[in-house]
Amino acid sequence: LYSLAITDSITKLYVHRYFQLRLDEEVKRSRRYNSALSLLMCDIDHFKQVNDTYGHQQGDLILKEVSHILRRNIRATDIAARYGGEEFVIILPETNQADARIVAERIRKDVAKFEFPSVAAGQPPIHKIISIGVAGFPINANDKDELIQKADSSMYQAKGSGRNKVVMCGVDLPEEAAGK
Ligand code: GH3
Ligand code: MG
Ligand code: MG
Repeated sequence: LYSLAITDSITKLYVHRYFQLRLDEEVKRSRRYNSALSLLMCDIDHFKQVNDTYGHQQGDLILKEVSHILRRNIRATDIAARYGGEEFVIILPETNQADARIVAERIRKDVAKFEFPSVAAGQPPIHKIISIGVAGFPINANDKDELIQKADSSMYQAKGSGRNKVVMCGVDLPEEAAGK
């Protein structure tokens, strides 16, 4: 029953509430052992379009396939969760910015090249892209909530600078996102 309660039914990833608990623990651990922790905030680009064009069943299938892509690209000790509708978060314990960027870029590229099967018989596959914001503890934030907020604002910068991008908090901000 517990495992059912912490698992999202469509993606089989952890639910938001469990993510919050785990991030709280991981931030504490990171503080205690002086280790780096990274957080990825991922949001599928123009996802509403999928539902509007092909229906919710197609949308659900894409959410499921994206969750598989996330899982394939992380380690067993990383924690992936469905943050909200078409938003996913990944906690990377003991991972610095350079390594987190590699993981995020791998996910971004895998989504962009993936052929999402159509739910309609005989229809061509669908392509989607994803925007990812990455923030690190303690380098970008002093606590759990600030870490989430930093990853989230980096993700919005990725959207603002054209989508299908990874933006690292505080690192080479795209000019338009940095307001230059
Ligand atoms: P952006 O590129 O700015 O992220 O645009 P977007 O369309 O991805 O974002 P928006 O927030 O406008 O739309 C998110 C959509 O996700 C709207 C909602 O209907 C859809 N959605 C949320 N949860 C589910 C779900 O469980 N299944 C399906 N099929 N759609 C969902
Ligand atoms: Mg969204
Ligand atoms: Mg979206």
